[in-house]
Amino acid sequence: MTYGEPVDLSGTDRRAHLRALLAARTLAERPLADIVAERVRQDAKFGGRRDYDDGTGSPNARAAADLLREVCKAAPDDGDTWADILAEEVAEAFAETGGDRAALRRELIQVAAVCVAWAEALDRRAS
Ligand SMILES: [Mg+2]
Repeated sequence: MTYGEPVDLSGTDRRAHLRALLAARTLAERPLADIVAERVRQDAKFGGRRDYDDGTGSPNARAAADLLREVCKAAPDDGDTWADILAEEVAEAFAETGGDRAALRRELIQVAAVCVAWAEALDRRAS
């Protein structure tokens, strides 16, 4: 597997991958293991393949992304909050049109990465 390539999580590969992630011991790995477990739960509840429209790229979504980017830029260096950062990333994803699938995917990965970082921060506070 090459870093950044989608992982085939079908069949036995999926179970092996899940076992490896659930065995994660470091603080940074725990949110990722929890995410995989949540994805498995979602697939069991809603089915493995859901083909919704993206619903992104509206003028309002682009305006919201511009506004939230300015909010984050205007905050003092020590004034950023996880909520502000995540809101900016979600707004950027919503602003992407489905026409550029790579750009939308990149923004969704940024959203996921911020969620993981925020969960890591919560775990650090609890330890
Ligand atoms: Mg972004």
